[in-house]
Amino acid sequence: NRYVVTRHHIDGTPQESDFELKTEALSLSIEPGKKELIVKILYLSIDPYQLNRMKQKSSSQETTSSARAVKPFEAIDAHGVGRVVASGNPAFKEDDLVAGLLTWGEYCTVKEGGLLNKVDNIGFPISHHVGVLAFSGLTAYAGFFEVCKPKKGEKVFVSAAAGSVGNLVGQYAKLFGCNVVGCAGSQKKVDLLKEKLGFDEAFNYKEETDLKSALKRYFPDGIDIYFDNVGAEMLEAAVENMNTFGRVAVCGAISEYTDKGKRAAPNMVDIIYKRITMQGFLSVDHMKVYKDFISDTVEHIRAGKLQVLEDISHGLESIPSAFVGLFRGDNIGKKMVQVADD
Ligand code: NDP
Repeated sequence: NRYVVTRHHIDGTPQESDFELKTEALSLSIEPGKKELIVKILYLSIDPYQLNRMKQKSSSQETTSSARAVKPFEAIDAHGVGRVVASGNPAFKEDDLVAGLLTWGEYCTVKEGGLLNKVDNIGFPISHHVGVLAFSGLTAYAGFFEVCKPKKGEKVFVSAAAGSVGNLVGQYAKLFGCNVVGCAGSQKKVDLLKEKLGFDEAFNYKEETDLKSALKRYFPDGIDIYFDNVGAEMLEAAVENMNTFGRVAVCGAISEYTDKGKRAAPNMVDIIYKRITMQGFLSVDHMKVYKDFISDTVEHIRAGKLQVLEDISHGLESIPSAFVGLFRGDNIGKKMVQVADD
């Protein structure tokens, strides 16, 4: 079994040289009495939050992520989809398709109580169960509907809008009846948002010298909802342009993950007088909307109203470059790695 590990803790922007492949012997059978599973990994989710786990020194108390710190040279757990190749757990049988917490590797052993579910075959490509029908989708859906509490006709701003979560937030907001502007890091992404995903407007934030005045141009009547994926200056600029009783969903702060000197300092007096609500959230806090999320999303995809953007690299070896690429803006839509054919 081969798997990807970090060589050391990572401070700053990750590089491919921070990672290496390890090989270990793995028996594909379960010892009698053990309620474990062995899963052959098919697809793995590549997520920015993993960097916050890799920065840490060792104990979970030190981590800035809610997930356990990643220790150098140890297997890295990550969401993915795979096939059960051996099962000592009566809840699963050989050949079941499963989604949940696997590892950045070819195979993994999932102990009893591991976070894993059977995937219902609802006629979509397996890859959809890594992104749009998994945590990226749930984050966008719960973040937009539960945290932002939208009203039809409101003006919504989304950052990292061509990314996995961002593109879905913008699409849900359009389907709901909001006016949506997104920002992204290249002209290609901007064109995609406007031409394929139905955003009302989009701009390349890298070409703007003054984000506050750029947002004034795109929101002459102010922003009602800001879905923040990036933090720092963009959050400050959005707060400056928010309307009274505006809501900010603080989903991610990717521009701060690679730079510990960079922290958002939104104008607090603005927040008070405009009665702005800023709420950090985690998708896992919103499992109560999971069923609605799946049924609405499946319906929109089937009706051709929701575009599914997937950016798939192939082979275990591509995990480091896929991950590092998130912080360069290489990906369009959900970044994942296909480790093996089904
Ligand atoms: P994305 O698919 O959006 O990939 C990351 C994107 O962020 C890149 O493509 C890049 O796009 C942009 N980016 C990278 N570096 C910077 C920077 N310095 N400044 C501005 N933009 C940058 O990732 P996800 O959709 O998976 O995640 C989006 C955000 O949501 C992340 O912050 C993540 O941590 C967070 N998240 C939070 C969850 C929660 O439960 N709260 C769950 C899942 C994700 P571009 O070309 O536009 O720069």
